[in-house]
Amino acid sequence: MPTSQRNSQPLSQHTAADQQRPGTVTDRLVEANERYASGFTDPGMDARPVLGVAVVACMDARIDLHEALGLSLGDCHTIRNAGGVVTDDIIRSLTISQRALGTRSVVLIHHTGCGMLDLTEDFRHDLEREVGQRPSWAVEAFRDLDQDVRQSMERVRTSPFLLHTGDVRGFVFDVRTGQLREIDPEIAPEP
Ligand SMILES: [Zn+2]
Repeated sequence: MPTSQRNSQPLSQHTAADQQRPGTVTDRLVEANERYASGFTDPGMDARPVLGVAVVACMDARIDLHEALGLSLGDCHTIRNAGGVVTDDIIRSLTISQRALGTRSVVLIHHTGCGMLDLTEDFRHDLEREVGQRPSWAVEAFRDLDQDVRQSMERVRTSPFLLHTGDVRGFVFDVRTGQLREIDPEIAPEP
């Protein structure tokens, strides 16, 4: 979730002119797929990730997980949501990843400039006031990136559904430098 435009220096090949083209953005994605498929050959892969790893990360548009981690097609599961927060649905995906598709390692990635840092649970209350219905989900906003990574690691490690919780590591990705910073799971939060 980009928090502002100031970080988004265009690596994207799309320009303002693209916005003026006829058709919706989805039409352009479908066109791009036609080009992709025309050069595609069946890699003949199994659904089980080659590296046996699942990466849980924020959906932020500035993080290219495959490039940033040196991953290739078929290497890993990528599971993304707003914040890269370990919710029940992330646990659902990790459980299937481990029990049905053989992954054993989990990598968690939050990042600098995350939109979740600007939100609070007020988002949920405002939403309820606007639509007259309380969402069943928590916003899972956070103020402290490092602490949220620790909490996410802990949620994975203590899940009763997962088979493999011995190799769970958490990181903060810096959207300005492209570097990962590992978070020590043992450091307690400031009181
Ligand atoms: Zn984010």
